[in-house]
Amino acid sequence: MIMNDTIAAISTGNVISAIGIIRLSGENAIKITDTVFKTKSLDSLENAEDRRLYYGSLYNNQGRVIDRCLCTVSRAPNSYTGENTAELQCHGSPVVLNEGLRALFKAGARQALAGEFTKRAFLNRRMDLTQAEAVIDLIDAETPLAAENAAGQLGRSIGRKTDGIYDELIQMIAHFQAVIDYPDEDIDDFALAQYTDTLSNAETTLDRLMSTFDRGRIMREGLPTAIIGRPNTGKSSLLNAILGYDRAIVTGIAGTTRDTIEERATLGGVVLRISDTAGLRDTEDTVERMGVDRAVAAAKNARLVLALFDGSQPITEDDENVIETAKNAEYKIGIINKSDLAPEPSFKLPDVFDAVVTISAKTGEGIDELENQVRRLFGDNAAVTPGEILTNARQAEAVNRALASIRDARAAMEAGVTPDAVLTICEDACAALAELTGKSVRDDIISDIFSRFCVGK
Ligand code: GDP
Repeated sequence: MIMNDTIAAISTGNVISAIGIIRLSGENAIKITDTVFKTKSLDSLENAEDRRLYYGSLYNNQGRVIDRCLCTVSRAPNSYTGENTAELQCHGSPVVLNEGLRALFKAGARQALAGEFTKRAFLNRRMDLTQAEAVIDLIDAETPLAAENAAGQLGRSIGRKTDGIYDELIQMIAHFQAVIDYPDEDIDDFALAQYTDTLSNAETTLDRLMSTFDRGRIMREGLPTAIIGRPNTGKSSLLNAILGYDRAIVTGIAGTTRDTIEERATLGGVVLRISDTAGLRDTEDTVERMGVDRAVAAAKNARLVLALFDGSQPITEDDENVIETAKNAEYKIGIINKSDLAPEPSFKLPDVFDAVVTISAKTGEGIDELENQVRRLFGDNAAVTPGEILTNARQAEAVNRALASIRDARAAMEAGVTPDAVLTICEDACAALAELTGKSVRDDIISDIFSRFCVGK
């Protein structure tokens, strides 16, 4: 791979905005930028100090000034990519940015591929693979907790945890090899038993890390949620209340099957993916309204079921069926609606729910309590440390493999298997951990990871 060619891209996206940034990385990044940017403070940008902002003019291909902007440079190895880099902070006009980019191409830069800046940072060992993946997670974060977790991982919180294990396992293997290869040297005898703690500590750490993955997946992908209840209990009103509660993040996206629509909304710091909202929303068409049959189907694919009841009416057989359906869900919240009509509901729900709340979808009363309950079950009060939550399936697979090997190694040790056989299993664990952080990982996996980035990152 040619690493010293110079790449350039608009990093702020092709949209009108206050500021737009063009970024370059590669051996000639500063030299190339010098041909399109002139500042009165310097004869040449090549004399610029690192990480200082210079005010000047941006020139296009015809040598005409197209913007007044700021430029900053950072030299290898102390830059994001580990290479020479330059950044032009222009006015955020797509025309200006594209003209600037074309001038940079003419001077010898080429268009950066998706994720190429971060890929170079990884290949130049400015970050490990978990940090690089955290860059995507941070950009894609939908909730403050997801952002906080990604920011923690940018600081290598996962790599730091697993590197300790990796180093100890390598030391153990090296010790054994040294005793065998250099019998005449004065090396302490090797006894597997002295490494019992190494293995059990590794198992505890990896097990804990693995146990955060479920939480992480919810954080990353959202929580599949179904609102169920017999007709007229207020399901579509509740959906609208939830969507209206946090207007900041509301998108309707088509689901995987033809007739399903999924709505995303944050509640209690968790992204709820509320399924089959076509049936919920279409309140005019009674045929399309969500009957109990449909609720059963929706609940089957959900992890959280919001089961709705009309507190102003006596409980019916259909309601009993809804309770039965909710029982099978992993998490279920019973919601007694229409508190504005009936402050004291006419019935009590059985003790099968993780929480029961009373609300009025009409007035919005009680929605904050629903939010509290969602937060309690899944949100940022849950007992996990942001930054130390596994969110990424590739990472989880590697951690799981390492954990399985460590468990096998311990079992082999206890069964009195010879040290060389136990250590071979430990080597498998090391290989899995090296894949996790990218110490050793196949090129095609790396390409796949970075292709998920946006251009300019
Ligand atoms: P769905 O069939 O379960 O989706 O129920 P809808 O949301 O369509 O609501 C059925 C009827 O109940 C509509 O006339 C709503 O205006 C009414 N409704 C829903 N929630 C409330 C509430 O909290 N208070 C009152 N008074 N009426 C409600």
